[in-house]
Amino acid sequence: MTHALIIGGGVAGPTAAIALQKVGIDATVYEAYPTTAHDVGASMGISLNGLDALRTLDAHTVVRDAGFPVPRGVMWLGNGRRLGEGHTGTPLPDGTLPIVIGRYDLYAALRHEALRRGVPIHHDKRLAHTEPRGDQVAAVFTDGTEAVGDLLIGADGIASTTRRFVDPHAPRPRYVGLIGTGGITREASPRSEPGVMDMVFGRRAFFASMASPDGSVWWFANLPWADEPTAADLAATTAAQWQQRLLHVFAGDTSPATPLIRATPPDYTWYPLHDMRAPKRWHRGRVVLIGDAAHVSSPSSGQGASMAFEDAVQLARCLRDRDDPTAAFHAYQRLRAERVSKVLAGARQVNRSKAATGVGRVLRDATFPLFMRKFSTPEAFAWLYDHRIDFDRPIDDHPAAHDR
Ligand SMILES: Cc1cc2nc3c(=O)[nH]c(=O)nc-3n(C[C@H](O)[C@H](O)[C@H](O)COP(=O)(O)OP(=O)(O)OC[C@H]3O[C@@H](n4cnc5c(N)ncnc54)[C@H](O)[C@@H]3O)c2cc1C
Repeated sequence: MTHALIIGGGVAGPTAAIALQKVGIDATVYEAYPTTAHDVGASMGISLNGLDALRTLDAHTVVRDAGFPVPRGVMWLGNGRRLGEGHTGTPLPDGTLPIVIGRYDLYAALRHEALRRGVPIHHDKRLAHTEPRGDQVAAVFTDGTEAVGDLLIGADGIASTTRRFVDPHAPRPRYVGLIGTGGITREASPRSEPGVMDMVFGRRAFFASMASPDGSVWWFANLPWADEPTAADLAATTAAQWQQRLLHVFAGDTSPATPLIRATPPDYTWYPLHDMRAPKRWHRGRVVLIGDAAHVSSPSSGQGASMAFEDAVQLARCLRDRDDPTAAFHAYQRLRAERVSKVLAGARQVNRSKAATGVGRVLRDATFPLFMRKFSTPEAFAWLYDHRIDFDRPIDDHPAAHDR
C-alpha cells in the first residue's frame, strides 16, 4: 500500500489524511507543535464550498457542529449607510449553512476525526528538510529522527518548510497593509440577530461582528498599518493602549464597534495579514504542497480553510486516478491553480477596500453601492460558494470549468 507522509496537523493535513484513506492510501501526520492548543481565540468562517468538500469525505458535520451557522452577511459603510447583503451560496442538501468556528475548535474537530478514523498523528515533529530516497522520500525532523514514505505532502502552512524544498524561488508571503485582532464578549448586545455577519467598512478601519446562539458576540477588526509590524512592535503597545486605539479608530463610525470593544477584556492577539500567490510548481519529485503551503489568500477572503479542504480532496482524486505521482500532482495543480488565484485576487480587492484612507476612502464609499448592486446577486459568487467536487467522477485531462 502507498504510504504518504503529511507534514502539518492544522487544517489541510488531517483533511488530506482522511481523503487519502478514502482512496486507499495510508497516511501519517507529523505536526511541529506538541499540542493543537496554539492560536486559541481567533475565529474563522467556513463557507459552503469548503463544507461541501468535507462532505465528500463524510466529515462536514463534525466541523459544522463545532461552530455556529452564519448564513448572511450584511455590509455597511461607517456613515451608517446599509450597502446590502452578500450571497453566501446554496445550503447543502442536508441543510448545512456557512459557519463561524473558533480556530482551535476547527483544528480539534479535524484532528479528532482523523484519529477516530485511525490516522496516526505525531506531535513535536518539526520538518527540517526532505530528501529523495530512491523511489521514496524521507522527512527529516529537527530532533534528528526521520520517516520514509512513498509521497510527502507539505501541509505546513504559510511559513512552509516543504515549499522551500519544492521551489527555493517560490514567492514569499506578502504583507497586505492591514493588521487584525478580535474578541468575544457576553457583556454587550449585538446589532444583528444570530446568523448575520455585520460588516462595517468604516472611516478608518473595518469591523465585523456576529451573535453566537449561546449569547456571546464575536468580533474582529482590521486596521490599515503601513509597514509590517514585528511581534516586538505589536508588544510595545500595552493592551490598554490598544483598546484606546481601537476605540479611537471606530469613534466616528455608526457601528456596533464601540460597545463591543469596551465590553471585551483587551487581551488582544494582533496579527499582520499576509497573502502569497502560488509558486509556478506545486510539486517536485514525490513532494507536493497543499493549503497555505501552496497558496495564501489573506483572511479577508474567508477561504483559506475552505481552499485547504478542496486541495486535499482534489489531490486524493488525482492520486486515485493516476498511477504515477508526478502525473497525479500535475493534474492536481491544473485542477486548483486557476481557482485559488481567483480567490486570491478577490481577497486583494477586499483588502484594498479595508485599507482605503483619505481620498481612496471617499472614492470607495462613493463606488461601493454600485459594486454591491453588481456583486450582491446569487450568480456573482456562485463560482465560489456553489462549487461542488464530484469525488467519484474520474478526473479529466482537460478539466471542465465546473471541476476547477
Ligand atoms: C487571523 C486569521 C483569520 C483567518 N480567518 C479565516 C477565515 O475566516 N476563513 C478561512 O477559511 N480561513 C481563514 N484564515 C486562513 C486559514 O487559517 C488558513 O488558510 C488555514 O489554516 C490553512 O490551513 P493549513 O493546514 O494549510 O495551514 P495551518 O492551519 O496553518 O496548519 C499548518 C500546520 O503545519 C504545522 N507546521 C508548520 N511548519 C511545520 C514543520 N516544519 N513541520 C511540521 N509541522 C509544521 C503548523 O504548526 C500547523 O499546525 C485565517 C487566518 C488567520 C491567520
